[in-house]
Amino acid sequence: MKYYSTNKSAPEVSLAQAVIEGLAPDRGLYMPERIAQMSDDFFARMPEMSFQEIAHEVAEAFFGEDIPAETLREIVFEALNFETPVVPVAEPIYSLELFHGPTLAFKDVGARFMARMLGYFIRQRGDDKPVTVLVATSGDTGSAVANGFLGVKGIEVVVLYPKGKVSEIQESQFTTLGQNITALEVDGTFDDCQRLVKSAFLDDDLKQRMNLSSANSINVARFLPQAFYYFNAYAQLQRQGLAEQVVVCVPSGNFGNLTAGLFAKRMGLPVKRFIAANNSNDVFFEYLQTGIYTPRPSIATLANAMDVGDPSNFVRILDLYGHSHDAILTEIGGAWYSDENIRHTVKKTYEKTGYLLDPHGACGYRALVDGLRPGETGVFLETAHPAKFAETVETIIGQPVEIPEKLRRFMEGTKQSIEMGADFAGFKAYLMSR
Ligand SMILES: *Cc1c(COP(=O)(O)O)cnc(C)c1O
Repeated sequence: MKYYSTNKSAPEVSLAQAVIEGLAPDRGLYMPERIAQMSDDFFARMPEMSFQEIAHEVAEAFFGEDIPAETLREIVFEALNFETPVVPVAEPIYSLELFHGPTLAFKDVGARFMARMLGYFIRQRGDDKPVTVLVATSGDTGSAVANGFLGVKGIEVVVLYPKGKVSEIQESQFTTLGQNITALEVDGTFDDCQRLVKSAFLDDDLKQRMNLSSANSINVARFLPQAFYYFNAYAQLQRQGLAEQVVVCVPSGNFGNLTAGLFAKRMGLPVKRFIAANNSNDVFFEYLQTGIYTPRPSIATLANAMDVGDPSNFVRILDLYGHSHDAILTEIGGAWYSDENIRHTVKKTYEKTGYLLDPHGACGYRALVDGLRPGETGVFLETAHPAKFAETVETIIGQPVEIPEKLRRFMEGTKQSIEMGADFAGFKAYLMSR
């Protein structure tokens, strides 16, 4: 299958090229030229299938032409070796818990899948220039990518993060791993980290010396696999006889997660409509209201993984709906919540139902409370475990949050990082000397 750029002024490429390059040369995002329909037979069998089995059939539809069947099966079964359960919070509202992977956040799904797919394409290419994946992180992406790529042969990962600006829990998740993962503690901001990565991609000496790759959420190998768990959620609702009028609410930042859900719907998944839930960074909500998209600098909030002022996947949504605002409105609604609303929602939901939301999931849950119509069943994506935001959540509910074993083990590890200035010359010298 070919992949085209949303900017339509770059050549179409193979899956391998789209995954290795990440961004198209015209700065557009890659899209598959076709979106296959899943068969009626598949939907009929779905309630009896495991997450891995469902994911495998959906993966065949996307990637089956480009990856040998046995390899694709291995990638799926190795990457997705954890559950994504749907649990009731306050009927008819359900939480799709995407935090049962190694770093307790949904990004594990895409990162683990992409690591294995990129590893496969690199081995296929057969040149022996080392491959270095560069990733700038403000916290959560670094941990998912580092853990996703941990131990994958032929790929080195360098995580750049702003010194003193990520939480201790987050830092422990990418600085304690060792093996093929190196953490650079940059004396600067997240924007400095991103600038260093961007400059590296443009540098001829570095390009000569190594294959540089990125693992951000615009990569098709990271965002498309996120479609898998929408099918798995639906299968669980089918089993319980709740699959009529399903509304899915997605706490959104860069909108990769929501876009994957829209792909699932195009493939035939009978979702009635989607709701995009935002924090105070409400450019998408404003677009829905007015038809006008005005990107702006992000604002810091309690749901910080959604602090995005110019969501990168917005262009994919426009492309999917032929740039029609009306078409988008028929399938996607929106809502946004201030920090005050997030605090209130986490506290009240915990008191009333015993379910502890994280600040991102709180936006999703609240949008269903406010927006669900009679007869509908609502599912929101619980994108991270509340313990990842323990400080915030403990302050809100006035009680300690139980830290899962997986997270505790990271925190007990020994931090290893290399301190680095925010100037490109130093960063380049470091990469050249590796
Ligand atoms: C990344 C992230 C989001 C936002 O997901 P997008 O795909 O960028 O919209 C929401 N919640 C958490 C916890 C995240 O880490």
